[in-house]
Amino acid sequence: MADVHNKSTRSYNMSRIKGKNTSPEMIVRKYLHSQGFRFRLHVNKLPGKPDIVLPKHKTIIDIRGCFWHKHENCKYGKTVKTSSEVITSRRNSAVDRDQSNFIKWQEMGWTIIVVWSDCELEPRKKNSEKRKLILKQIKEALKN
Ligand SMILES: [Zn+2]
Repeated sequence: MADVHNKSTRSYNMSRIKGKNTSPEMIVRKYLHSQGFRFRLHVNKLPGKPDIVLPKHKTIIDIRGCFWHKHENCKYGKTVKTSSEVITSRRNSAVDRDQSNFIKWQEMGWTIIVVWSDCELEPRKKNSEKRKLILKQIKEALKN
């Protein structure tokens, strides 16, 4: 059968598909869906537009990339010596935003589950025990 796509279109499709399926947010969304949880995405009405919101459980799931959000004691969150000032200030403001959003959400009565995307979800691994554990913990937290 003839391939109807040229090379560049094909690689574009592939990268899109791959990116979509393995993104940390998709991992969590798919899991929640499979467990029958209802959620909303990027809720504008809440400060910081949180990734995943479960109104029934009054819970916010905040998915943070280890590098950009400076995950402490994590190999992915380490500061690189060669980092430019732009990168450093971007990371610092991400941390500031995380903290202020967290406080605001708490004050509004939300329960917050923080998920670290690189070390906890391990999106590049096909089978990750860590990921399974984290997802199970999310489920347990939502049940309580
Ligand atoms: Zn981490």
